[in-house]
Amino acid sequence: MSDRSIEYLVKCSDAMGIEEKFLFHQHTIPSSLCRQITQSTAQEKTQVSALMLDLIKTHHNEVFQSRPWSCVECNRPAITLIHNAMSYLHLDKSQIIDFATPCCANKLCDTQIRANFTQLMALVGVQNAML
Ligand SMILES: [Zn+2]
Repeated sequence: MSDRSIEYLVKCSDAMGIEEKFLFHQHTIPSSLCRQITQSTAQEKTQVSALMLDLIKTHHNEVFQSRPWSCVECNRPAITLIHNAMSYLHLDKSQIIDFATPCCANKLCDTQIRANFTQLMALVGVQNAML
């Protein structure tokens, strides 16, 4: 089974409208996973989710520490990023796109950000992983 290189793109924007992009090219995955998620087996979907979580964990600190972020809901200093990665592995250019959202320590902000993501996910209908 051959491996294929993929692109991991993190888009992070905060309440001030600042958006930064982080692009990572060093990752490869089995090419068998690079297909339409609706045609994938349950096991392959699980593998894709695990892969996305792995990418998120690997690059989280780098993205979070790149600059001071402020919470998108309340504008206070963010203490973490909520990641929402989506699989576009089936495209010619295999990509994982991760929308990272700065969040403060407030539980209400956390809940609101996740609810927004869930709504968005219902619309686009691609495999995703949230952390
Ligand atoms: Zn907040």
